[in-house]
Amino acid sequence: MVDNLSGSVANFIVDRSWVFPPLLQLHFPALCELVSQVPIALDPSTTDTLVWSSSSSGELTAKVAFHFLRQPSPSVDWGRCIWSKFILPRMSLLTWKVLRGRVLCDDFMQKRGIALASRCVLCRKDCESLSHIFRSCPFAETIWSCMIAKFELAAPPLSLYDMLQLELTNGRSPQLKELWVACFTSVLWFLWHARNKAKYDNRFITVVGVCRLVFGHIQSASRIASGHMHNSIQDLRILKCFGVTCRPRHAPRTIEVNWHPPFLGWIKINSDGAWKHDSARVGYGVVFRDYRGYVLGAFASNFDIPSSVAAEVMAVIKVIELAWVRDWKHVWLEVDSSLILDFLWSPSLVPWQLRVQWNNCLFRISQMNFHSSHIFREGNHVADALANYGTSSTDFV
Ligand SMILES: [Zn+2]
Repeated sequence: MVDNLSGSVANFIVDRSWVFPPLLQLHFPALCELVSQVPIALDPSTTDTLVWSSSSSGELTAKVAFHFLRQPSPSVDWGRCIWSKFILPRMSLLTWKVLRGRVLCDDFMQKRGIALASRCVLCRKDCESLSHIFRSCPFAETIWSCMIAKFELAAPPLSLYDMLQLELTNGRSPQLKELWVACFTSVLWFLWHARNKAKYDNRFITVVGVCRLVFGHIQSASRIASGHMHNSIQDLRILKCFGVTCRPRHAPRTIEVNWHPPFLGWIKINSDGAWKHDSARVGYGVVFRDYRGYVLGAFASNFDIPSSVAAEVMAVIKVIELAWVRDWKHVWLEVDSSLILDFLWSPSLVPWQLRVQWNNCLFRISQMNFHSSHIFREGNHVADALANYGTSSTDFV
């Protein structure tokens, strides 16, 4: 066997099943067992393809290679809110630098060995540092106090990070939260702008001037933001104080969701997947019903794959396998995930780890009278409950 290594994987597949030489099975039974669990494509026209295991699609692109090579940075919970569509990118960038301590203030330069005499150009009372310019300088302190009062918040905290979180964590409406982020980023921006004007152009902007610039920017940003206000006097008072248009919450829209039985002679399958964040397992649940709506069977199970998409995909693969074994040729699959319906039309979107099984599923579907549809979760309640049950339980039918 060692002398003859010219074989390929295809030599070990006969009639769509793994076939190992007796000598290999005798000496490497564990290896043969492991390989036999690898699914084989049912469609004889399927060819082997190379996959890049670090990407979901299996394709190697410049983006995938970049993320593979770079050292991952720890994520921060405030990052998403400052990179918003209603914040100018230059303001988001400055806010990022300030909260990361990367602004070229005098103390930053001194730490890098540049000798210079430092003095804050806004108050002319203290040395210039990042925390002084943006937080503790009397000039900045006056502006922050003004904004905090207008937002009807408690005394301003000492750190800028706590200041940003002040409005975001106290149950305020989405519109007020967006307004606060716009206010926070624009105060930092115009403080830095006032500092640079005074330092390099010898032009001094007053506290009132900075507040006017901040107010103007908040009004511009609020026209792009999309959050809604709460129906409260406080929200109305704060929004009117800034001259911002109020956006009340829209009345909820009622959608009728009905489960319809299949046609005579058809089997309707409702499936769903579930993933609990505190568990490394995903569950899936399936229910089969006939044209009268009678339940023909149901099952729930789980996998060691921490992905809700994989759970949904595996649920469909399992039900089609079962329909194939039972020789059901008229099958209606109904799911509450539009992603699964996309996968039916575009199998290349399926994660590459499941692609062979998914293509086998599509091959079986091509031999059936098959119909697929989407239903809201409220109409898929039985499969949803089974999937949740499956996250912590073993199979049952
Ligand atoms: Zn100062």
